Amino acid sequence: MKPPRANRYRDCWAGQLRADAVGQTRRVSGWVHRRRDHGGLIFIDLRDRTGLIQLVFRPDESPEAHEQAGRLRAEDVLTAAGPIESRDEANVNPNLPTGEVELNVASFELLADADTPPFPIDEDTEVGDELRLRYRYLDLRRERMRRNIELRHEVVQTIRGHLNEEGFLEIETPILTRSTPEGARDYLVPSRLQRGSWYALPQSPQLFKQLLMVSGFERYYQIPRCFRDEDFRADRQPEFTQLDMELSFVEEDDVIEVCDPLIRSVLAAGGIELELPIERISYDDAMLRYGTDRPDRRLGMEIQDLGEAFAGSEFKVFSGALAGGGVVRGLRAREGEFPRSRMDALTERAQALGAKGLVWAVVEAEGWRSPIAKFLGAEEIARANELLDAREGDALFVVADEPVVAAKVLGELRLELAEGEPEGHDLVWVTDFPMFGWSEDEQRFDALHHPFTAPLGDLDGDPAEWRSRGYDVVMDGWEIGGGSIRNHRADIQQKVFDALGIGPEEAGERFGFLLDALRYGAPPHGGVAFGLDRIVALLAGEGSIRDAIAFPKTGTGVDPLTGAPAPVDERQLRELGVKVERPPGGSPSG
Ligand code: ASP
Repeated sequence: MKPPRANRYRDCWAGQLRADAVGQTRRVSGWVHRRRDHGGLIFIDLRDRTGLIQLVFRPDESPEAHEQAGRLRAEDVLTAAGPIESRDEANVNPNLPTGEVELNVASFELLADADTPPFPIDEDTEVGDELRLRYRYLDLRRERMRRNIELRHEVVQTIRGHLNEEGFLEIETPILTRSTPEGARDYLVPSRLQRGSWYALPQSPQLFKQLLMVSGFERYYQIPRCFRDEDFRADRQPEFTQLDMELSFVEEDDVIEVCDPLIRSVLAAGGIELELPIERISYDDAMLRYGTDRPDRRLGMEIQDLGEAFAGSEFKVFSGALAGGGVVRGLRAREGEFPRSRMDALTERAQALGAKGLVWAVVEAEGWRSPIAKFLGAEEIARANELLDAREGDALFVVADEPVVAAKVLGELRLELAEGEPEGHDLVWVTDFPMFGWSEDEQRFDALHHPFTAPLGDLDGDPAEWRSRGYDVVMDGWEIGGGSIRNHRADIQQKVFDALGIGPEEAGERFGFLLDALRYGAPPHGGVAFGLDRIVALLAGEGSIRDAIAFPKTGTGVDPLTGAPAPVDERQLRELGVKVERPPGGSPSG
């Protein structure tokens, strides 16, 4: 950081003082990080954003300053001036960039008193989330959070720099808008001027970025806030930040090849080296090998198809599943303890996930130790061992079921069985998604990406068979981005709407502006959006996106700092023409 303009508070940054300043008189400002009284001397670590400098107060040289320093407490704010001196050799602190020097205080001024903070600022102690968020401005003073916020800044600047170079234009889109269908519930804002009408906060700028392509901007990006009103789910935020991009006249490869070097630059900002190209695997392959479309390949333990080993099995659970269009798949755990109680717990877990059962086996020299071993032939066991690359002592888990159930169950077991912290990082593009998933609850198709994704396949045939031109990018088992090639023709867009049960009339009402735009010469286009909060959290090594956001909300959407959401005046509601029905016995909400 450039030196600050000298004024009455400071002429340098605390964290930038080095041996070359010895002999000069300097003025610093900041917070009392820590105070130590030592053999008549008082030492204070003074903190500003750049780091710490040790102030020393000597009673023989500056009795007045020394006397006043005795009353300073943690987090008081002060400005201090005096000569920079070398520390005695015994007092040099090699862990501190300023550790060779100290500022011998000739005079100082207390600029603000601090109450005792509710948690220590100078240590990375565990503090409850609620308390951290209530006093977020203090939590942000702590080194770990300061670093995360600095890293976030780095990442954002890297993105801007990179995309500007590539010819992308940064364009803002409205926050007060119409419902945009990313599949979540909207946040609504009542209109005062048009009573009874509502704005929706955008779940993403999806439709606007497509309109920008129709406008001919070719390459767009934005780092927008997105709003999704979802029920409590661990580590979700009601508002979150994306890097949103869209390009014209492109296909999947073009988008991915623009993203790869961008991702590499972003990771480099977090100190992670990435080799390009980022590998790609198909959705089907990911589901087969990892049981999920968000694979963390660092865990190893790939799921294997064992159909071939058990095709003719006498064991009806296996052969029956195979004959009925199902699969027999398994995975192998190499390390770990597998007492019977753990096997039973894993079986219960598999059943809770929807499997009819779980077959387990421990590989022994003579065969399998397993409740079902007696139903299997030696050859079947040998072939299964071979497919699973199993050796003595390994534990094996096999599921015979429908493919989706087998994938889900084995995918979860794989995560549970993984031992130890995986090393390094794993990035992968997942491509060739199905277009729709079937929602049992609602008895209809849901778009796996969103309804503006272009479909592939026989569009006059069964939509269950359609594939999509969508793609996701996954880092360490987290989906960090996703996008698709879009429908740039109104007739194809309507076919997708039809499959989703959105007839022309409803489509016209909800998305008429997009369908209209597609009739005025829309270029083929596609894009992607990345979850910025998640990326920063991953780079910072944080488990929660909250630690990558300056002012996040709790999992229930509450901000303990400001108290939002909060009731509003009757008068405000009257102006808006809004009547609030209070839940019976519930708290006031208006
Ligand atoms: N709008 C999508 C999302 O927010 C991303 C995209 O398709 O570009 O997930």
